[in-house]
Amino acid sequence: MSTKFNRPRIEDVLTQRFFIRPSFDIYGPVGGLYDLGPPGSALQANLLEEWRRFFVVEDQILELDTSIMTKEDVFRTSGHIERFTDFLVRDVVTHESLRADHLLEEFLTNYLAKAKVSDETRAEIEDVIKRVDDYSGEELGAVMKKYNVKSPAGNDITDPAPFNLMFSSNIGPQGNVKGYLRPETAQGMFVNFKYLYEYNNCRMPFAASQIGRAFRNEISPRSGLLRVREFTMAEIEHFVHPDRKDHPKFVTVKDMVVPLYPAPPRDNPDQPREMVHMTLGDAVSQGIINNETLGYFLGRIFLFAKRIGLLPEHLRFRQHGLNEMAHYAADCWDLEVETSYGWVECVGCADRSCYDLSRHEEVTRKGLVAVERLEEPYFEVQRNLKLNTGAIAKTFRQLTNTVKNHFQGMGQAELEALQEQIKAIGSGNLSFTIDGQTHEIDVSYLTITETTKKVEVREFVPGVIEPSFGIGRLLYCILEHTFTLREEDTARSYFRFSPRLAPVKAVLAPLSNNAAFTPLIEKLSADLRKHTIMYRIDDSSSSIGRRYARLDEIGVPFALTVDFESVKNETCTLRFRDDPRSQVRMPMAEAGALVADLVAGTTTWEAVLAKYPLHTAQDV
Ligand code: AMP
Repeated sequence: MSTKFNRPRIEDVLTQRFFIRPSFDIYGPVGGLYDLGPPGSALQANLLEEWRRFFVVEDQILELDTSIMTKEDVFRTSGHIERFTDFLVRDVVTHESLRADHLLEEFLTNYLAKAKVSDETRAEIEDVIKRVDDYSGEELGAVMKKYNVKSPAGNDITDPAPFNLMFSSNIGPQGNVKGYLRPETAQGMFVNFKYLYEYNNCRMPFAASQIGRAFRNEISPRSGLLRVREFTMAEIEHFVHPDRKDHPKFVTVKDMVVPLYPAPPRDNPDQPREMVHMTLGDAVSQGIINNETLGYFLGRIFLFAKRIGLLPEHLRFRQHGLNEMAHYAADCWDLEVETSYGWVECVGCADRSCYDLSRHEEVTRKGLVAVERLEEPYFEVQRNLKLNTGAIAKTFRQLTNTVKNHFQGMGQAELEALQEQIKAIGSGNLSFTIDGQTHEIDVSYLTITETTKKVEVREFVPGVIEPSFGIGRLLYCILEHTFTLREEDTARSYFRFSPRLAPVKAVLAPLSNNAAFTPLIEKLSADLRKHTIMYRIDDSSSSIGRRYARLDEIGVPFALTVDFESVKNETCTLRFRDDPRSQVRMPMAEAGALVADLVAGTTTWEAVLAKYPLHTAQDV
């Protein structure tokens, strides 16, 4: 475990202060299911609000809320029924289910830590560990046999078998429509493409987004909040012309230097990866990042990560190697965040090419296409065939319909060929074949006419660039990255949440339970409510220092205290969590507006210190 992040202390606070608890704890929990308590759920709500502001409002994205329960057909077309699987092995004695790739990695890592092996064997095993994600089922099975992998209990295991991660269900009382809880929100956006496109006045490019729950029946969820069976995602599907993936706002990010961890080159897949810090502009122009739109989103994701409090030195964009990427994807980068669990994938950003819409269009034929005006319109000859049906009936009798269908089913290319044949023959009979049988028809029974049409538009299937955010993972990483111990007293901790994200923005604390303070606290409360500020009152009998420590623990940025001076002159003191030694005294009447400005970021703590006198006799 990395020593940079203090997981045991954080986990303590998270449970003690009810950020999070295992679901149905009192009945005995089930792995991978968690409930967010008041500070956890407020933090998540604020994170989502920030996400909406940063992505949806910034790029006028069309937000949707589609059904979680999804008809089987959708996932058959998308490939989830066939391929949304992990490999599972079982302990033959305890019957415990284990995820094969995780078991292999863990087993070999432990083996290397304990056993004395030659340099050659060590290198070989390290190579296997590196490739764990890329193995097929058979390859996994073979490698597990080769190294005689056992379960954590030391027992034999079964061969790896694919296990579909989707939760299935039946819709309706007869249960004859099979359904699945969605494992991602994306399909709900793809199947609505036609309506979204029309809503957008048939303009391209545009993006849709969705925030919602996703479900994955993870085989053996460990890693706390990072691998769970029900989680919130926020996804964007940016629809573009497949040949024009430039982005008008790429200029706003092109000079940003980002930490990239590119995949080895295609012609040298064994070359070890190396971190590079470079501008997005250079990465796109050198072909490291496939296109501007992908580059734009990577830039925005990086800015967002910093804005929500993640530490930039613990962030990187890891490019998928050829084997990890879906066969249709053009490029894919994950925002990885370093935590006590190592590097964790929090946001996937993939160029999925035209795969999703093409597949749904192929199966449904419901026009999941966009239309573009051609720069150079052209003229197209349209051929129509007229049959002399009376003469055909007399000649072909019981075969009449077969012959008619044969000719009427011809496409433009076949009609053009037929026209050439008729021209060459002039008059008389023409031979044709149906089901291997040759027939003859008088060419005078077939008349082909031509019309010329001006073609000004063309239909195309849009490509998709998809940033996909795991909200629960980001939330957990924020907790690890903002957790701080007080220098003067390391038994005390706080979360350095940005005020916008903080679950509770302010605490109101009367100095004691003296009745003279009650009307003042009521007045401040009303003022904070007027400014829509989430606050709490702490009028417990604990010392003010203990109360500050409690509000620090859940990361409350501001505290307003009323004391005997307040009773005399309607002032209060204001304390900022990150600078607890410099409290100010200010008029109570200005408190609500000032805290609102501090939360919104329209003023700073430095400006507050410059404006109001310091209050000295405090207990931090
Ligand atoms: P994927 O569709 O697998 O690329 O996942 C998209 C994002 O969802 C990932 O980047 C993660 O942040 C998140 N995610 C995927 N699986 C889980 C899980 N089991 N628990 C929590 N978050 C997950």
